[in-house]
Amino acid sequence: MSTEHEEIAVVGAGLAGCLTACFLARRGYRVALYERRPDPRTGRVERGRSINLALSERGLDALRRIGLDEQVMADALPMRGRMIHPVAGEPQFQSYSASGDRAINSISRGALNNALLDAASKLPGVRIAFDHRLVGLAPATGEMTFETPQGKVTETATVVLGADGAGSAVRGQLVGHGLLTESLDFLDYGYKELSIPPLGGDFALDPDALHIWPRGTSMMIALPNPDRSFTCTLFWPTHGTAAFASLGSPAAIERHFAEHYPDLIPLAPDLVDDYQHNPVGVLGTVRSTPWQVYGRVGLLGDAAHAIVPFYGQGANCAFEDVVELDRCLDECADDWAAALPLFQQRRQGNAEAIARMALTNFVEMRDKVASPLFQARKRVEHALERALPGRYVSQYELVSFSTTPYAEVRRRVRRQHRVLGVVVAGAAALVAGAVGAAVRGRRR
Ligand SMILES: Cc1cc2nc3c(=O)[nH]c(=O)nc-3n(C[C@H](O)[C@H](O)[C@H](O)COP(=O)(O)OP(=O)(O)OC[C@H]3O[C@@H](n4cnc5c(N)ncnc54)[C@H](O)[C@@H]3O)c2cc1C
Repeated sequence: MSTEHEEIAVVGAGLAGCLTACFLARRGYRVALYERRPDPRTGRVERGRSINLALSERGLDALRRIGLDEQVMADALPMRGRMIHPVAGEPQFQSYSASGDRAINSISRGALNNALLDAASKLPGVRIAFDHRLVGLAPATGEMTFETPQGKVTETATVVLGADGAGSAVRGQLVGHGLLTESLDFLDYGYKELSIPPLGGDFALDPDALHIWPRGTSMMIALPNPDRSFTCTLFWPTHGTAAFASLGSPAAIERHFAEHYPDLIPLAPDLVDDYQHNPVGVLGTVRSTPWQVYGRVGLLGDAAHAIVPFYGQGANCAFEDVVELDRCLDECADDWAAALPLFQQRRQGNAEAIARMALTNFVEMRDKVASPLFQARKRVEHALERALPGRYVSQYELVSFSTTPYAEVRRRVRRQHRVLGVVVAGAAALVAGAVGAAVRGRRR
């Protein structure tokens, strides 16, 4: 199929939408990118919604393919490990990789979105319509209705791609037409942003790490920013006595942080103001099926499969979707009716795999990282990786520093654990045998 004159509509000019527009324009399509917000490059960031992302290999791989990796990385700060902050005592550094030199990269979601918007708007064939909120869709014809400051407008496209995030209106329209089923599993945890400004012109904490304050039922993390500040994200239950709403006064907020996060107090002068005025965001897992109907309306990124943020993979996974969609279009000679089902077939299992790993990682981050047993396991894991290069690779390394499909990561890690279990059991049997022989020898 010739791609030259077709117009593809992409709803949502967030991370996945902008990247999709770039990939499709390179294939020769005309692309209309519709975004409900005004142009974010001219506006201000909403309070408490700055969000730093940990960008890792999957996201970088996608950016490399459109030559945007170096520009994006110029604004990123590499984090080579976790810095664990106990309630009392010195923070402890845990390297992410066995070699100690691999890093995930802290980047502002807004800055990344703006870089992608710039890249998309420079490409011939891409038209971006801001202040266009999708409110209606006829899936069979590709007719879309948008609310704009000038009133409702109608547009039509050969193919409509929903890249409009976790609360996707495109997905909602498909559900409304009885063409798609969705499940939304909200966590009973929410998140609130707090800030640590520069201290004496420099970073107040080590900028080479992702900082974690694991507290069992709650957790705080902090990622560095290029202006030498840190953005902290506090994860806490949304309801109950130990929850966001339980801190009703400045004194209660100060008391709580002094008790649970004492080293934060001198570093966060705006703590009370941030706490009182920044919103609580919701977290959850979105599952939907199918991801396409009639071979002409498709979903990708968070619109198809939003996940909780605890593996730092939502955007990385969304970027990987775009690479896979491009690959499917290649393999199907741009026949969308064939490419969209193939895309779903290839990506759905992977999205489910990372959704599960992200949920499991929440327990690891808020609880296990502080335990001596966990730290010993990590040391053994890194030792194994060094001893068996390429044969034993940790789950974290496969997820963050490779493009091994997520579902394959889970299978491979299970296989490695089985082999390790046999080796450990064998070693234990040998040790037990040797001890038994020694005891018998002594008795004789
Ligand atoms: C606290 C937090 C931390 C995170 N940390 C990480 C991390 O470390 N690493 C990582 O990879 N990911 C992380 N994520 C996840 C990441 O932010 C998302 O996975 C990513 O933004 C998904 O991209 P998207 O383009 O699919 O959706 P979005 O980025 O949500 O973009 C959707 C776009 O669609 C627009 N839109 C919505 N509705 C309409 C409509 N009706 N009409 C038109 N436009 C519409 C929106 O305005 C938006 O621009 C984090 C998320 C959170 C909440």
